Amino acid sequence: MRIIQRAADLRVNPPRPLGLVPTMGYLHEGHLELIRRAAAENQEVVVSIFVNPLQFGPGEDYQSYPRDLERDARLAEEAGADWIFHPSPEEMYPPGFATTVHVSGPLTERWEGERRPGHFDGVATVVSKLFNIVRPDRAYFGEKDYQQLQVVKRFNADLNLGVEIVPVPIVREPDGLARSSRNVYLDAETRPKATVLYRALLAVRQAAQSGLSPEEALAAGRAVFDETPEFAADYLAVVHPQTLQPLEQWTAGARAIAAGRFPAVRLIDNMEVMGS
Ligand code: AMP
Repeated sequence: MRIIQRAADLRVNPPRPLGLVPTMGYLHEGHLELIRRAAAENQEVVVSIFVNPLQFGPGEDYQSYPRDLERDARLAEEAGADWIFHPSPEEMYPPGFATTVHVSGPLTERWEGERRPGHFDGVATVVSKLFNIVRPDRAYFGEKDYQQLQVVKRFNADLNLGVEIVPVPIVREPDGLARSSRNVYLDAETRPKATVLYRALLAVRQAAQSGLSPEEALAAGRAVFDETPEFAADYLAVVHPQTLQPLEQWTAGARAIAAGRFPAVRLIDNMEVMGS
């Protein structure tokens, strides 16, 4: 496996198909599942590790975001990576850099877009750059960041980038907590309570499958939130799986999405609640 810092050091004619797994590093089982999947389906796999300053807002955790390149390199190689692309912020955003990829409209206005202004511009800009630098045939994204996945599909289609976007199901801890690099911020007391999102999503799904309406199902989910007063919910919604618009009636593939904060960490999660 090769670790490179400069875009110019990626080979011009790699064996194809070529898979790309974009990450911010501090790899966990969720990332490794993406890498394994990419390794199984492609001749070579590039894993990018870049904590992208553009997608963090003021007061967010850009500086303190966990980083451990040595450990990441070992884990990525074991999972089947051939290349690690680990650029500096200056490599990605040299002096004079002035371009933003902006996905407009309802897909980015709500949910994470509303709570994290500018976040999806940062994501769309860096992922577009990675697609142009690596020129992959396929790129792998976790359903963990479900809205991000839809945003990536949107600009990839809108800008004719031609990359096959492969969604990968959420990898969870045994108790249901979605794996996340930010889970290291959870202290021993908060950790067991952090399953609140998963439990609320399960309650929504169970209500949906027992014939209740979306509104009633959301009430069941909110009741789970209410049992954990340390958790400040940002949103819990039942949405269309592609547009992410709230649903009043069930539709195939309906997704429940949720986010909220414990004092030291903000968590997001989602689940398909109606079979597709
Ligand atoms: P990040 O390093 O948090 O930017 O995540 C990099 C990629 O890994 C994104 O496509 C995420 O959606 C995906 N990912 C993160 N956590 C998980 C998880 N628990 N299960 C599946 N994919 C994940």
